[in-house]
Amino acid sequence: MTPTTHTVILGAGLMGRLLSLALLERGHRVDLYDAHGADAKGSAAWVAAAMLAPMAESAITEMSVVQMGRHGLLRWPKLIDALPEPVFFQQKGSLILWHAPDRHEARRFHQLMDQTHAREPSLDKAQVLNAQEIEALEPTLAQRFQKGLFLPSEGQLDNQQLLMALGRALYHHEAKGALSLHWHEARSLEDFALNAPGSGKAIRLFDCRGLGAKAQWAALRGVRGEVIRLHAPGVDLLRPTRLIHPRYPLYIAPKENDLYVIGATEIEVEDSSEASVRSTLELLSAVYSLHPGFAEGRIVQMNTQNRPTLTDNLPCMDVSRPSVMKLNGLYRHGFLIAPAMLDCALEWVDSQSLALSETFGLKVLLP
Ligand SMILES: Cc1cc2nc3c(=O)[nH]c(=O)nc-3n(C[C@H](O)[C@H](O)[C@H](O)COP(=O)(O)OP(=O)(O)OC[C@H]3O[C@@H](n4cnc5c(N)ncnc54)[C@H](O)[C@@H]3O)c2cc1C
Repeated sequence: MTPTTHTVILGAGLMGRLLSLALLERGHRVDLYDAHGADAKGSAAWVAAAMLAPMAESAITEMSVVQMGRHGLLRWPKLIDALPEPVFFQQKGSLILWHAPDRHEARRFHQLMDQTHAREPSLDKAQVLNAQEIEALEPTLAQRFQKGLFLPSEGQLDNQQLLMALGRALYHHEAKGALSLHWHEARSLEDFALNAPGSGKAIRLFDCRGLGAKAQWAALRGVRGEVIRLHAPGVDLLRPTRLIHPRYPLYIAPKENDLYVIGATEIEVEDSSEASVRSTLELLSAVYSLHPGFAEGRIVQMNTQNRPTLTDNLPCMDVSRPSVMKLNGLYRHGFLIAPAMLDCALEWVDSQSLALSETFGLKVLLP
């Protein structure tokens, strides 16, 4: 692929924005289409909590996602530094807590993380904390929990700030004439002949439509997630906290300016209607049980989206069709693994190499 190749990218959510910028920076001319607007509110990425937690997620996913997540934690600061406006990124670790009746589930979670650590010792080993150690890390939780676990290297970012900053960077390229942005224009692969009209140049098509690609990728499904954003100045949590619960794993991710993202439900149904009363009650009562100061918080957003998920719940890079690359199945790990997916995609674009994909164990569909 040469810099003069005409590149079309479908989907300006998380993957599409990152990939567009990377290709523009390599000198490509890009047409970017999205079914929704520049505010990214049509994407799963807008709704996410953007936790970057490879070790905690290892309890529910495969090593390939964990390895990509480790790469992501290293890559995000560089990707964010290159953006024209600041994006909140934090790597102060994450805390795992539970109420006494849920200690058996906590033990199982701990054992699973220890198994991951035995396979990949470069990842955090979960540190067991007593009440004083919890208080030292999170003074606002003093006297509330007797035991906890700490993963010192885990991180998070502000997804909505990131999407806006990526959008701003794209506008710079549009102003220079290298990028054409097509908002509110839903497209399918079939809309493009694989030759750029009139130019005689090869066209390269990237499909980053998440669940919007379902009509052309039958294995895709949506997994519903509901998230609440609270403004709670009375709480003062410093880092993301997971509350172990037998029915719904809950996390509370403190962003800037006393904002907290409370999430997320995970329901096996494709439905992006508003948050249900049940989910809202469960999320808010769990967060109140962590700290009563949340009772005076203000609900600033309640969002629902479907996570784009393949049958095995793992991501995939599909290059089986000439001149087309599909990146999809990021499921609940998009922010964790997007930098790794991006680097695998760029390696293929630049040199038709799969070395990095093989290192991570990313599933690749070849011709
Ligand atoms: C509730 C919830 C919580 C989450 N929490 C986390 C978390 O803590 N950590 C983490 O790592 N990940 C999290 N995720 C997952 C993450 O948000 C997704 O994995 C990620 O957004 C997927 O990126 P994507 O670019 O593939 O899809 P999306 O971000 O959904 O973007 C797809 C884009 O394609 C566009 N589109 C759709 N159809 C068309 C069409 N026909 N033509 C043109 N454009 C189209 C859409 O408008 C959208 O902008 C969460 C997700 C949800 C829903």
